[in-house]
Amino acid sequence: MKKHISSLIFLFLCFSVLGQTSKDDFYKTIPLAQNINSVSGKPFVLSSKTKIYSPKNNAGLKQIAVFLSEYIEIANGIKLQITNSPVKENAIVLENNFKDKNSEAYNFTANQNQVVINGATSAGTFYGVQLLRKVLLENETKSQIELSAVEITDYPRFAYRGMHLDVARHFASVEFVKKYIDLLALHNINTFHWHLTDDQGWRVEIKKYPKLTQIGAFRNETQVGKQVGVYDGKPHGGFYTQEQIKEVVAYAQKRFITTIPEIDLPGHMVAALSSYPELGCVGEGYEVYKKWGVSDDVLCLGNEKTFTFLEGVFTELIPLFPAKYFHIGGDECPKKRWEKCPKCQTKIAELGLRKDSKHSAEEKLQSYCMSRIEKFLNAKGKQVIGWDEILEGGIAPNATIMSWRSTQAGIEAVKQGHKAIMTPSSHVYFDYYQSTDAASEPLAIGGFTNLERVYSFEPIPNGLTEDERKLVIGAQANVWREYIESDAQTEYMVLPRLAALSEVVWTNADKKNYGNFLNRLSDFLKIYDKLKYNYAKHILEVSPEYKVDTENGQLILSLKTTSKSPIYYTLDGSEPTLQSKKYSESIIINSAVTVKAAVISENYKSKIFTKKFEFNKATAKPIVLENEPVDRYRFNGGKTLVDGRTGTTAFSTGDWIALYKDDFEATIDLKSLQQIKEVSMNTFTSQNDWIFGPKQFQVLISNDGINFTPVYSEDLKIAEKDDGPKITNLKAVFAEQEAKYVKIKAPIFEKIPEWHYSAGQPTFLFVDEITIN
Ligand SMILES: [Zn+2]
Repeated sequence: MKKHISSLIFLFLCFSVLGQTSKDDFYKTIPLAQNINSVSGKPFVLSSKTKIYSPKNNAGLKQIAVFLSEYIEIANGIKLQITNSPVKENAIVLENNFKDKNSEAYNFTANQNQVVINGATSAGTFYGVQLLRKVLLENETKSQIELSAVEITDYPRFAYRGMHLDVARHFASVEFVKKYIDLLALHNINTFHWHLTDDQGWRVEIKKYPKLTQIGAFRNETQVGKQVGVYDGKPHGGFYTQEQIKEVVAYAQKRFITTIPEIDLPGHMVAALSSYPELGCVGEGYEVYKKWGVSDDVLCLGNEKTFTFLEGVFTELIPLFPAKYFHIGGDECPKKRWEKCPKCQTKIAELGLRKDSKHSAEEKLQSYCMSRIEKFLNAKGKQVIGWDEILEGGIAPNATIMSWRSTQAGIEAVKQGHKAIMTPSSHVYFDYYQSTDAASEPLAIGGFTNLERVYSFEPIPNGLTEDERKLVIGAQANVWREYIESDAQTEYMVLPRLAALSEVVWTNADKKNYGNFLNRLSDFLKIYDKLKYNYAKHILEVSPEYKVDTENGQLILSLKTTSKSPIYYTLDGSEPTLQSKKYSESIIINSAVTVKAAVISENYKSKIFTKKFEFNKATAKPIVLENEPVDRYRFNGGKTLVDGRTGTTAFSTGDWIALYKDDFEATIDLKSLQQIKEVSMNTFTSQNDWIFGPKQFQVLISNDGINFTPVYSEDLKIAEKDDGPKITNLKAVFAEQEAKYVKIKAPIFEKIPEWHYSAGQPTFLFVDEITIN
């Protein structure tokens, strides 16, 4: 009997715990609120009779009430009345007098009579309304819905929560930009960084310089994919009138989003040079850029007209953008033209700029330009943001750094007392691939930042003092659109990674948990569905995990999904169906095979995962590297080269490893004496990514692992200026002989060649799959 009672108590405890959790869960959306406490009492019942109250003479809250009414109409199909006479019962009350030092904080309470959303400012109220909107959208569409009694206090971790959009490489309509801003609001992002000008197009009307949009906003044609020198023959372009800019800025402002314009200078200016050639060092022969990459043609800083031009542009932009910050670029500016330009050299002499151990005179010339523009903007009440290159040659005195190449520049900036915004390409470049299966993704610029990597991003680096930490004002994801042409593809690249970013910048780090996030995300995806956004569905598909078991000479493939439906797979190349083998444990691979797998239920089938595994004498054999790959492209180290998977031109998804400044040398242990006559290895070259092949390919063999005999050696040429990205199979064929060990040596080219915009810098060497037959 005693036993019986304790079981009953146990059961009761279970139920109450479960009950508690589900009540809390109702309000757990994305980003996760800082404090959610369910309280006792009956729930609030939202129905068509509920009224929305916003106080008299408060235009900000009135606007939020209108938004809320629209949101509820979309989520629940009911139209609520808005009133400014106080209502005691059945009302959603909007206020903005919550006492909190964080101006975007809010308090959200629900009880039987009222839901009260009270912000420290209207911005806070807006975020409370977003929370309500999201939980309604995540639930079934019902004209009557219970909101459990709760008390929520929430606030953002960072004051700067940014999303960027490049409209220069591919133009985006006003309509789409507004839709994009809606997305930002849905994810509690408060800053829209609008990249308006670049080599490939100038997108904002400047009345003093009409040719910028008559000429600079259009290009004759565009490079096809990554095929250097191949063009599509189709004109592309577009620009925003000043009226349209005002319209977008106001649209964002209503949603508590600040729009920061970027005029990228003094590089990335070919569109402007095509319109006004006298602003360049060469002075003629410019054409709006049709390809991607970095142009040597930049603004001539020895010409005073350049500064008149820039000041003229900013003078017209200042009234259009109320933002405190203006972004003035400063990235990827080759100094080649300035080195040869008499005007620039005269300017360098006049300013007394001298090369020192850290910086060239030309780098200091760029720094002079950035500081001069900063001074101009400071005088008009604006602060400047620049990409991290503006640290080179001395940073402009009050500039905020946008740290993109890594977080290192951000660390340097805050150590010098500057503010920093973290946007490292390693974690928050949404133009990068989001799946390792790059072959089934739309063509992307490269890179790899999947959802989990975005989520893992911590904007505050280790080792900063308390004061330095405060100078990291936030983080931002960037959406460069060289390879993103359509609105739908933009949404695909942004979603759901934006959901992960949202939590990085909003939720305190100690409350973040990836598994928990994924659970909430599966509900959050219903919002994308309801609002008809095109999002990437990887988390509902098959996600692979690869292992190389060198001890047993086999490959191990594990398949995962966050979908609740099971995975089915085949090994004979046929399409998986409900009749195929159901996945339950890792698949062992010890011969060449093609695996196809999908998440399948009665009424759903995910995209099919396909992976081809090759098998040869090197596959899954022990391999030792003489030099470690560079961190960023280390992946599975040497095992990456014997994992049966051949890398594609998507070079950063884990199929390739890269050396930087070091030579490649690998030794493979075949485990027994084998007859061999052919050794091959792939290398990848892509000049825009600083990737050049090896300068030599050598093969040596040995029976004891100590004494090696060379059997093959070939000298290789460095890539030429017009070579596109490509994979080369380096192959050694020799008279058949016996060997237990095979060594491959492939020394790196020390320097990027003279014709390149980064001439003299070290190169990367990418290598993949070694085959021995
Ligand atoms: Zn010049």
